[in-house]
Amino acid sequence: AMHVDAVHRLKLTTELRKALDRGEIGVMYQPIFDLRSGDIVGLEALARWHHPERGLLPPIDFIGLAEETGLIQSLGRRVLDVALAEMAAWHRRYPAHRHTRIAVNMSGRQLGNPGIVDDLREMLTGSGIDPAAVILEITENVLTPGDGSASERMERMADLGVSLYIDDFGTGWSSLNALRSLPVTGVKLAPEFVSRLPDPEENGFVEAVRDLAENLGLEAVVAEGLEREDQRQALVAAGYRIGQGFLFGQPLKSDDADDLLRTTPAAAWVGSGAGGAVPRWGRAG
Ligand code: C2E
Ligand code: MG
Ligand code: MG
Repeated sequence: AMHVDAVHRLKLTTELRKALDRGEIGVMYQPIFDLRSGDIVGLEALARWHHPERGLLPPIDFIGLAEETGLIQSLGRRVLDVALAEMAAWHRRYPAHRHTRIAVNMSGRQLGNPGIVDDLREMLTGSGIDPAAVILEITENVLTPGDGSASERMERMADLGVSLYIDDFGTGWSSLNALRSLPVTGVKLAPEFVSRLPDPEENGFVEAVRDLAENLGLEAVVAEGLEREDQRQALVAAGYRIGQGFLFGQPLKSDDADDLLRTTPAAAWVGSGAGGAVPRWGRAG
């Protein structure tokens, strides 16, 4: 069985390497909404593999392998490159959305690459996007405590003007430590919390995360995995302002994301926050 597994993985690795060369790795965009008005505040870029035989593959089928083999570096560059270029084009095409933000996932292995900050700087300049519209989502369970080089790289990325969010906040063991030791702008509340709403105990957790974010001066908590209207209502009642999930929209192909931006207003308060031109999502709540 181990042999079969190894052969399969080797084949998949070869395929993934080719896929990167041939441009088979694409990006879909899931909208992020103002929970109260339904206006758009951002898009999250999600990697997809357009496999010639197996069709559209989700990240679970290839991100882990990409991390183990080091291919995550070129995959991550590819996703950033596409996402920043497309969002910069949307900012130009739809002036109402000039502050609408683009969130891109970054894995721990990518942070382990000493060249990551230079890559990011190059891609920001190359795309012409306003760095203040860019969010990098880092999964907390990949952050190793005491890894000074990763946090130093995060500091330097923050200096470029991008925002850093902790993804799937609440599920890792290092949540509070990460908030203390890393230059974190905001957090994305893991869908596990949202899925159990409304529920008195779960409301307590959700409110506690909101207070934590507020007390630490973070700009926002984004609720993830909203699937039902009663969850949206519970989050609004708990003072949440921003969320994403199937209730509002699935990840979209580029053309469909374009349609959505053309036909849906941008939240007026994005970009009007402290710092004037700096598009802030505003404080949690
Ligand atoms: P994530 O960053 O937490 O992204 C959210 C995931 O939840 C997406 O899955 C999205 O399709 C899914 N989702 C959104 N709304 C709902 C909902 O209401 N219900 C449910 N059940 N699911 C929802 P996806 O696209 O399969 O991505 C999975 C994970 O793969 C991402 O989780 C992220 O950690 C990773 N990933 C995706 N793209 C990239 C990338 O370009 N680079 C890296 N390093 N990781 C990536
Ligand atoms: Mg994410
Ligand atoms: Mg997440």
